[in-house]
Amino acid sequence: MDKNEGTVTKRLDRYVSRRQGRHVPLLRVALCALYAAVVVLPLLIAGRFGWLFSGNIWGNIGRSLGLAGYAALALQVVLTARLKWVSMHFGLDRAIRFHRTAGMVSAALILSHPVLLAAGSGRWALLYGLDWPWAVLAGKAALVVLLVHGAIALWRRAMNIEFQRWLFLHRLGAPLVLAAGLVHSWFIGSDLRVPGMRILWLALGAVAGGLFLNQIALRLWRLKRQAYRVRKVSAETRGVYTLELVPPEGHDRFDFAPGQFHFLRFVEGRDQPVEEHPFTIAGSPASEGVLVSSIKRSGDFTSLIDRTRQGDRIAVHGAFGRFSLLLHPEETTVTFIAGGIGITPIMSMLRYMRDTGMDINAALLYANKTREDIAFADELRGMSSGEHPVVKLTHFLEEPPAGWEGQQGRITADHAGRFGAQPFAKSAFYICGPPPMMQGLLKGLKQKGISSRKIHYELFSF
Ligand SMILES: Cc1cc2nc3c(=O)[nH]c(=O)nc-3n(C[C@H](O)[C@H](O)[C@H](O)COP(=O)(O)OP(=O)(O)OC[C@H]3O[C@@H](n4cnc5c(N)ncnc54)[C@H](O)[C@@H]3O)c2cc1C
Repeated sequence: MDKNEGTVTKRLDRYVSRRQGRHVPLLRVALCALYAAVVVLPLLIAGRFGWLFSGNIWGNIGRSLGLAGYAALALQVVLTARLKWVSMHFGLDRAIRFHRTAGMVSAALILSHPVLLAAGSGRWALLYGLDWPWAVLAGKAALVVLLVHGAIALWRRAMNIEFQRWLFLHRLGAPLVLAAGLVHSWFIGSDLRVPGMRILWLALGAVAGGLFLNQIALRLWRLKRQAYRVRKVSAETRGVYTLELVPPEGHDRFDFAPGQFHFLRFVEGRDQPVEEHPFTIAGSPASEGVLVSSIKRSGDFTSLIDRTRQGDRIAVHGAFGRFSLLLHPEETTVTFIAGGIGITPIMSMLRYMRDTGMDINAALLYANKTREDIAFADELRGMSSGEHPVVKLTHFLEEPPAGWEGQQGRITADHAGRFGAQPFAKSAFYICGPPPMMQGLLKGLKQKGISSRKIHYELFSF
């Protein structure tokens, strides 16, 4: 390892410790506790000021669930705001998945609010009538938008609503629900007459509003001003294109751990949709000053990726994700398993291992449909012969050509045992590929006694 590589290793180690939370699992617990505390805080305030335990029990439960549901709803934006202190402890992908579940739970809590109030008072017209004060109507409107929203989130694919259209509707509807809910709770009943509750509500509104504004406008403005430039576009293999991006003059490329991803959005594209999409940073962090992503043509946005030309400008936001062997330095026997374009985060880790001469016992099982689909074939061959560390490489093809010397078919846990890094029981696993392949492997490896703590995986959808 030369001096420059040693510097990169040390810098990345500092980056991982500082920005990726390798050594601070307790902080994760603290953040979960903080989230739970904010959700139940309205109930504590209500209990402290008496009304929680007086009067109609169903009505009180309904009010409490409404308050807790609203607090959870206001926190939704915290989960998706790409805050480093959230993503570094949980991973942005997990935070976004939790956002989806928490959204459903909040909607259920908020729906139970009018139902229980109606049950407690016997005034069922609360659920359907329109002859109510405007603040009640504001609450009803918020609930209707929230339920329509929840239904689209659950059945988007069945409704044939594409992701970007859904994102647009979500960004339109979510602030409406929060604003109407705030107005409703502020002006109706007695819950928000307590000063503590008012302060909490204002704080929640300010945090949600501020983060939302940052998400839809400020961050974009900042990223556009510091847009990266495309230095090179190359065809990698059938349908896969590699972009090399360099930061604007006077700016350094941000640090990232191998295996992490960033979001890309064309600032001056060539009739490509102006949308942000997540892609792995497939290059090695040891390659100074450049970001590399290899992108497979699949849908609306990616199918136009080959239009990209040298000099195009791209707003880049990163780095995110916890799928990196640098977060698990204790793992020195590692089996990588990739399917198709799922090779990109693994490629980043392999390149980093090669560039820094990492002392690791590694194997790669790589599955594709045909030989023409294998990306980085020559580079991988180099890694499997001679370069340190030597990676034990096994290719799998579903449709092998005549005379194929690799394996045939899909990768299973049995293959991982046979072709993975040895000893199998000691190996950690990094898996990225199509969901059915990942599901089969996760189940199979666990059945073979591999602890889930040693199985790391990345999904290419949130
Ligand atoms: C962490 C991560 C790393 C990825 N790395 C790579 C990579 O290295 N190379 C590669 O080719 N692909 C990668 N992908 C997949 C890539 O993001 C999608 O293929 C791409 O966004 C699809 O967009 P599309 O419009 O072409 O296809 P569509 O058919 O319109 O979208 C297909 C699906 O992609 C998801 N998607 C679309 N847009 C977004 C968005 N803005 N944010 C989140 N999800 C979205 C949705 O689930 C959608 O249903 C990665 C995805 C993730 C989550």
